[in-house]
Amino acid sequence: MLRLLDAHRHAIDTCVFCPKLCRFACPVAEAAARETVTPWGLMTRIDDVHVGRAPLDGAAGDLWAHCTGCHRCQAVCKHDNDVPQVLYAARAAAAAAGHAPAALGAWAHSAPPPRPAFDALPEGGPVRLVPGYVDDDTVRAAVRLLEAAGHGPLGRPVGGAGVSGIRLLEAGHPDAFDVAARRLADGVEGARLVVCLDPADALALRRDLPARGRTVGPPVQHLTEAVAGRLAALTPVLEGDVLYLDACRLGRGLGVYDAPRRTLEAVITGRVVEAVMHHAEGGCCGAGAGLAATQPALAAQVGREAVADVPDLPVVVASGVCAGHLRVATAGRAVHGWATLVARALGRPGQEDEG
Ligand code: SF4
Ligand code: SF4
Repeated sequence: MLRLLDAHRHAIDTCVFCPKLCRFACPVAEAAARETVTPWGLMTRIDDVHVGRAPLDGAAGDLWAHCTGCHRCQAVCKHDNDVPQVLYAARAAAAAAGHAPAALGAWAHSAPPPRPAFDALPEGGPVRLVPGYVDDDTVRAAVRLLEAAGHGPLGRPVGGAGVSGIRLLEAGHPDAFDVAARRLADGVEGARLVVCLDPADALALRRDLPARGRTVGPPVQHLTEAVAGRLAALTPVLEGDVLYLDACRLGRGLGVYDAPRRTLEAVITGRVVEAVMHHAEGGCCGAGAGLAATQPALAAQVGREAVADVPDLPVVVASGVCAGHLRVATAGRAVHGWATLVARALGRPGQEDEG
């Protein structure tokens, strides 16, 4: 599996000889305060293993688990290096050799939480929902939002697949990702629109699966895109200002920055406040690419640092997975999932909890 790294030689070479220009941008390196887990450090160990200077062992597998896939490094890299893609190839080599952290494999293969609201949808139909790993409260909120936006009636992908398998790709199981993502692509054939609740699934269907030779027929959107400009009657449900955190795969991944902010402005009485670093340079919650499973304390520290600039305001993030992680990481701070917050503003009695 080391041959998977051959395609990334140029990126590896430019990183190895770089004076760590993206050091400041990596939330994992900042939180861990360790040079070995900077993008430079990760790529240097990949180079060492690829050319045979270092063994492919458990230490390498553990080191390569230190990344959230946030792409902040790429946002500031003069070479536009996609460090996570190289890292996922290295993780595949470690997994194939039996040296990947067990927690990373368990995270990638874990089942989503129970979602009765998703299970209750019929199979097929013109608009199909992909919930990913978000919880049932977020699914119920999304169904209300999509119906209010005129996208109903909603359906499930044929065959019942509710995830793209992107965790498998990120954890180093590309063949299993192919199977899972193609199953989902088959399950949405014939739809008018596919709506993902986790930006990671939208990115998998829009970028990662096509890059592997399979295009997805219908357009794929994240929930924030699907309802943008289509929610007529929103009543503010939150007093004062909020801090908005761009979810990495929604912002840097899909390029969606303004639509969720505009909708959010309609459901609060105050302003949408930005952290010092925002939009393309925005912080990372710490949960991505398995870090919360392999290094939970470090992942929590990453999350706390992402929202530390503005310590007194409630946080809103347009990813149920990020919201859940931040809620645990910041213990006691108000963290709102965008979908559940906006659904409460629809003006009907909402049943959503904060998810
Ligand atoms: S990703 Fe770019 S900026 Fe970061 S170490 Fe590699 S070459 Fe340097
Ligand atoms: S993707 Fe994010 S966590 Fe991973 S190396 Fe780059 S900046 Fe660090």
